[in-house]
Amino acid sequence: MSTNARPFRIAVAGGGIGGLFTAISLHHHCTSNPTTRPIEISVYEQASQYKEIGAGVGLGINAARLVHKLGFGDQLNAIAGHRTGVWISFRRFDNSEEVVTVPVNDDTKVRQAPCARTDLLDLLKSVVEERGAAKLYTKKAVSGVEDQGETVKVRFADGTDTEVEMLVGCDGIHSTVRGQFVVDRPIFSGQIAYRGLVPIKDIKEWPFPSYSVCWVAKHRHYLVFPIRRNETLNIVAFVTKGKDSPDVKDVKESWASVCDKADVEKDFEGFDGHVRSLIDAMPQNPSKWSINDREPLDRWHYMGGKVVLLGDAAHAMLPHLGAGAGQSLEDGWVLGKALGDYLKTDKSSSCHFQSLESTAALYQAVRLPRAQKTQATSRAAGDTYEMQAPDMIDRSFEDCCDLIAERTRERMKWVWEEDLDAAYEKVRDEGVQAEQGPNGQKGEEKAQVMTNGTAVQAP
Ligand SMILES: Cc1cc2nc3c(=O)[nH]c(=O)nc-3n(C[C@H](O)[C@H](O)[C@H](O)COP(=O)(O)OP(=O)(O)OC[C@H]3O[C@@H](n4cnc5c(N)ncnc54)[C@H](O)[C@@H]3O)c2cc1C
Repeated sequence: MSTNARPFRIAVAGGGIGGLFTAISLHHHCTSNPTTRPIEISVYEQASQYKEIGAGVGLGINAARLVHKLGFGDQLNAIAGHRTGVWISFRRFDNSEEVVTVPVNDDTKVRQAPCARTDLLDLLKSVVEERGAAKLYTKKAVSGVEDQGETVKVRFADGTDTEVEMLVGCDGIHSTVRGQFVVDRPIFSGQIAYRGLVPIKDIKEWPFPSYSVCWVAKHRHYLVFPIRRNETLNIVAFVTKGKDSPDVKDVKESWASVCDKADVEKDFEGFDGHVRSLIDAMPQNPSKWSINDREPLDRWHYMGGKVVLLGDAAHAMLPHLGAGAGQSLEDGWVLGKALGDYLKTDKSSSCHFQSLESTAALYQAVRLPRAQKTQATSRAAGDTYEMQAPDMIDRSFEDCCDLIAERTRERMKWVWEEDLDAAYEKVRDEGVQAEQGPNGQKGEEKAQVMTNGTAVQAP
């Protein structure tokens, strides 16, 4: 293959955090070697702009590390600001006494980065544009994909289509791309969250300027973390209502779903003065979200590897580890590495790079077990914070606080400390077969999904 070869065309469905980061990673890994087949990346976003209203997103050190590897870590630190050695401090709801405080090293260049989503998306978009990494389209909703043998035809809701060698489905928890291959749907957790942003200067008294605080009570937890260089607090106040509660009937996963502040006041009655000051500072009609995830999916690649899923489309999880966006960055990093290796003319002899399907299988084999562990741990963490894990139901509030401390102190270590490159090399060198799922079983048998685009019921 020469560098004059026809470009390998990649369509990325969805220009959220996962999609834009993936475009940067693919560009980086596939253009750093002069003998690599040229690529052409297009990102198709359904919305009219690359923006997300309101709210914060915390990137853990695992995700921040990848941003630094791609060369824009300083810009990430600049939009996040500096914290002072605490990831989160859990407090009793009634008097703000400490339950447990989880330290983190903030003295290094590569460190946690709690951002405003809109700042993070702006940064990712500007890096894509500066590097000419991808063509960015808006108002282009992917509506389906058809196998054409060597290529796939990607169809859009506006009636147009495009032909590419690979489609990466980064279209979020309600993924249309996933919906073509698997019949399942987002699962409502029974929890809602009130969300909003509040300038720290508007809060009567705020003694925790540079770290997350989470007040815990039975079936409720009120989480805040500072973003925008510690100028603004991102508020996510969770309440377990139950799946059949009339309170959840009209709640959506959307900024358009709002409520009266009186609902927040009622749900957080009895909380300490700090929380009351925060509620006072919230807007009169805060956003009210339904909190959903998906069941784990054991196959992320279809149509001979020409379609792959990434980010929430592959592994939507509850937000209780603050890890979903970070996991989508890990996906983007590994997919970039795998495709970069596949498109090299002087390929290694690893069996993974003999076909696009085995390359996609390598991506899945590296990422899927870790993403699924994060999904499961996010559910467990939510149950712990709301004191409704099976072994907490009948315990006193004080006993539950002890269990929160015990379970939370070390919980994030494996999420933050993974050496993703070593994990990639290990799986690559072990030579997992393309057809095998993560546990050795045939992917199709386990996931019960078809690679020809016909959807059947997932287990
Ligand atoms: C309350 C809450 C708090 C959270 N807090 C954190 C946190 O602190 N840290 C963290 O790491 N994660 C957090 N998460 C999770 C995180 O938001 C997601 O994991 C992350 O945004 C996933 O990125 P994504 O790119 O896969 O999907 P998304 O961010 O959902 O992006 C998908 C994009 O695809 C577009 N799209 C959808 N359908 C189509 C289509 N058919 N065609 C074209 N485009 C399409 C959408 O418009 C969107 O731009 C939180 C989630 C919630 C609900």
